[in-house]
Amino acid sequence: MSLLESLRSSSTRNPLIKEVKDFYRHLLSKGARILFSWVPSHVGITGNELADKSAKSATEFLTRPLVYADVRSAVNQWCHCQWQEKWNMETNNKLHVIKPVLSHWVPKLNRRCDVVLTRLRIGHTRLTHKYLLFAESPPTCSHCGDILTVKHILTDCVAVDRRRLRYFCSSSFDLSFLLGQIPHFNLFMYLKDIGVFHDI
Ligand SMILES: [Zn+2]
Repeated sequence: MSLLESLRSSSTRNPLIKEVKDFYRHLLSKGARILFSWVPSHVGITGNELADKSAKSATEFLTRPLVYADVRSAVNQWCHCQWQEKWNMETNNKLHVIKPVLSHWVPKLNRRCDVVLTRLRIGHTRLTHKYLLFAESPPTCSHCGDILTVKHILTDCVAVDRRRLRYFCSSSFDLSFLLGQIPHFNLFMYLKDIGVFHDI
């Protein structure tokens, strides 16, 4: 589809597209009639595999320079796949459950909420980690006395189970439920209710 759109565009600077267009005009001048058609899926179409094979063979041994934008896009895609494959193996990494599929986070909150959300996602907050800077003992939960961590605040503290149930309609879930690509819409209300939002 992108190729067909490029062919239709009058402002393309891609030399390969220009070459195809020149050849197309040449064929028209010879009286040829050509129909370009995008087929979303080739399954079941006679000659499909042969066409795929031919298309792939054209990319195996390139004998002409490539356009930089095309190379950059292919390299980016390749790097991203390599990165994702490695990340798929990191199932013991605490960040994996929050973001199993690599992609950009979409900032859609105000700055303060974005900062709070990022700190919760990486598991490092002022509340839970400032003791390291001040050489103090690890903080404990003001509700139950356990060691304070982001996971404890969000999923484990039994002392706030009822409030968790009220805000999230469940008291049993993993962190991705609250901190994933689309954070839970009651997350900040919950943090404010249990008195920790401004200390994150
Ligand atoms: Zn607690």
